[in-house]
Amino acid sequence: MEFMFPPPAPISLPIVGSDQRFPVHRVYCIGRNYSEHVREMGDAPERSTPIFFMKPADALWLGSEVPFPGATHDLHHEVEMVAVLAHGGREIPVAMALEHVFGYGVGLDLTRRDLQALAKQSGSPWDSAKGFDASAPVSAICPASACGHPSNAPITLEVNDKVRQDSRIDLMIWPLPEIIHELSKLWTLQAGDVIFTGTPSGVGPLQRGDRFRATLGDIARLEGRMV
Ligand code: MN
Repeated sequence: MEFMFPPPAPISLPIVGSDQRFPVHRVYCIGRNYSEHVREMGDAPERSTPIFFMKPADALWLGSEVPFPGATHDLHHEVEMVAVLAHGGREIPVAMALEHVFGYGVGLDLTRRDLQALAKQSGSPWDSAKGFDASAPVSAICPASACGHPSNAPITLEVNDKVRQDSRIDLMIWPLPEIIHELSKLWTLQAGDVIFTGTPSGVGPLQRGDRFRATLGDIARLEGRMV
């Protein structure tokens, strides 16, 4: 018997300064990773156990026109540093974690905040609030071999030329090496994994037609429009 299937659609990200593309395996995200953001969401910052969730790999969105999702009246932006892995592993020590990183970009963890609030109230999963189609617009990836490993880069988001989020990545509660260490205790990390490292304060609504510009220092820039 022969089955007819559509060809697989591999997800890959452009690499700054290269014709090659970075092949994506999974997309991991951490929540509540900047104290001021935890406070603006009405919680107390703590460093007990990191909160992880996933988005589907094909939630990554590379076009500059981002489709506004249905089923929400409160779509929020969360600008985040994005790290991608060249090597995987389990129980990766903090001191060796950055050796696993291929490079860095900047992305938006788009969130249906209304659905997330309902999920929090009822103790339900976050998938429909976080893992919808095109919920993860992301920039091209700058290889660490060219850009280094940023430790205190500024991270910003402007919407319609007004600054909404403006912080620095050294304010993370769980810095990237610790995120990688903690993730690798829960999953076997693989080359191709993409990590959204949490958002600073200033999250807020996006409307159709809004233009956004996200930056991670000189390392990455993402510009687009909600359509
Ligand atoms: Mn987030």
